[in-house]
Amino acid sequence: MALKAVLFDLDDTLLDWSGFHGDWSRMEALHLRNVFDFIAEHIHPLDDPDAFAAEFRARTMDAWAAARTSLRAPNLGSVLVEAAVALGVASNKLDMRRLLEVYAWDAVPDTAMFPDVPDAMRLLHDNNIRVGIVTNAYQPMWIRDVEIATHGILPFFPSCRLSAADVGYLKPHPTIFQMALNCVGVKPHEAVFVGDDPEADIAGAQAAGLHAVLRYSARQTRMLDSTIVPDARIVSLAELPFILDRWYPGWRS
Ligand SMILES: [Mg+2]
Repeated sequence: MALKAVLFDLDDTLLDWSGFHGDWSRMEALHLRNVFDFIAEHIHPLDDPDAFAAEFRARTMDAWAAARTSLRAPNLGSVLVEAAVALGVASNKLDMRRLLEVYAWDAVPDTAMFPDVPDAMRLLHDNNIRVGIVTNAYQPMWIRDVEIATHGILPFFPSCRLSAADVGYLKPHPTIFQMALNCVGVKPHEAVFVGDDPEADIAGAQAAGLHAVLRYSARQTRMLDSTIVPDARIVSLAELPFILDRWYPGWRS
């Protein structure tokens, strides 16, 4: 059995959010205001930014609540469009891509690439191991690409970056894992998944047939319950190669 690919979760696995103590809703309000101003100026007269933000927030909460059982991924672009339509804007006048550009997502202050990422990625690359990102983000991946480019993560992942918003399903749904495996072109037993979320990352990857490594993060909010047992646990990605040695002797070619 040969190791051919390692797939990674993004947030709190490659990207360290532990330094972020900002006000998320205030930050989000600025992005929403960008969209509101763009619509009001170029598409349809609107006069109440708070109503737009309220529509957006209610729909976002509903989408995440429904996702808890359906695992259908919320999509930032769709919610922006729906919020505008709720205020009377004709849907055929709204270009989702344009709204997302105007939303202007970028690297969040006080977030950073974990310092152990570059060495781990270089080692995998030097041994011809394919890599990919599988994130439960509600932003389409092209938006998060802007962010991870700023953080220096993007160059390590030239392809196979999957966002739940694009796939339509959230981890732990098997579809998103299968799509990632298809992208890197390997079978489940030839791949390892590394993530910080017990249910989404560990239970999800295992159900899809991958080895699952739990990466502890300072922000660990969801604790392991006794039904989810990772195949390995690491605090630093520097430990990952030794786990791979155990499972796939000779993977360092
Ligand atoms: Mg995560």
